[in-house]
Amino acid sequence: MPAPDKYMSAPIVSRTDYAPTLWSVRIKPPEELPFRAGQYVAFGVQDHDDKVLERAFSIVSSPYEPELEFFIEKVPEGALSPRLHVLQVGDCVWMRRKAKGIFNLDAKSGHTDHFLVSTVTGIAPYISMVRTLGKDLREGRLQMPQRFVILQGAARSEEFAYDKELRAAAAEHDWITYVPTVSRPWEDPEWQGERGRVDDLVRKYADNLGLRPETTTAYLCGNPGMIVNARDILKRRGFDHGSIKEETYWAPGEGEVEY
Ligand SMILES: Cc1cc2nc3c(=O)[nH]c(=O)nc-3n(C[C@H](O)[C@H](O)[C@H](O)COP(=O)(O)OP(=O)(O)OC[C@H]3O[C@@H](n4cnc5c(N)ncnc54)[C@H](O)[C@@H]3O)c2cc1C
Repeated sequence: MPAPDKYMSAPIVSRTDYAPTLWSVRIKPPEELPFRAGQYVAFGVQDHDDKVLERAFSIVSSPYEPELEFFIEKVPEGALSPRLHVLQVGDCVWMRRKAKGIFNLDAKSGHTDHFLVSTVTGIAPYISMVRTLGKDLREGRLQMPQRFVILQGAARSEEFAYDKELRAAAAEHDWITYVPTVSRPWEDPEWQGERGRVDDLVRKYADNLGLRPETTTAYLCGNPGMIVNARDILKRRGFDHGSIKEETYWAPGEGEVEY
């Protein structure tokens, strides 16, 4: 059995499939796992010699929720994600007891605007932030609404997964703007929204919405290629290194995929 001081066995309590390789699960750890919106936790399956084959996954749910939610992409040649893809409700994963990460909402700089850019599953930490801030605001713990501009890129609209939730949040809160964009609109004839890769929209939305470097923190999450491009665009627009936060899901140069 994997070391009980490091791991706990946690059951999947629900599962939603969005596309052949994209799904979300809700997992209920037997003990509380404290975290802040934007953090990740590693989990996986038992491999051999009591070792856990594990990877990091950003937490979609808010710390206020009783279960942990994750939005996962199956990498066909990957070691772990195909093994997670076959797990159903009632199956268990081995989960680390500690969440990690510093991809949290910037509360230090005093910036009022937050510009959150993602590819596909990279939306996960932003959902956690939106759910958490929404609840804080509704329950009077947050006084000054912040401006949140979320751009999400995907090859096709079926990959957004959380678009209904984000559209509803944007309708409820005037501080949220949500812009999904598809890069392969010819495969998605019904799609009426933005077209093109998400990094190609960074400049347009920063300009049109007046997201100034002096008052804005940018967040880039997901595909490393997107992160490199978006970082360069933001830097050319005056953002300094300290105002750009990054969560890179895999090593640059590996696993080139459409986004
Ligand atoms: C902080 C952090 C948070 C993460 N959060 C999430 C999350 O919320 N949801 C999620 O699905 N993944 C997330 N990941 C990625 C995840 O940890 C794994 O890398 C991913 O599940 C693939 O693991 P694997 O064992 O199947 O593939 P591996 O055997 O580890 O990798 C196989 C190859 O695929 C590349 N690769 C890895 N991920 C992808 C991808 N998505 N698309 C294309 N190529 C890829 C690898 O670089 C490698 O070349 C996160 C990674 C980090 C570092």
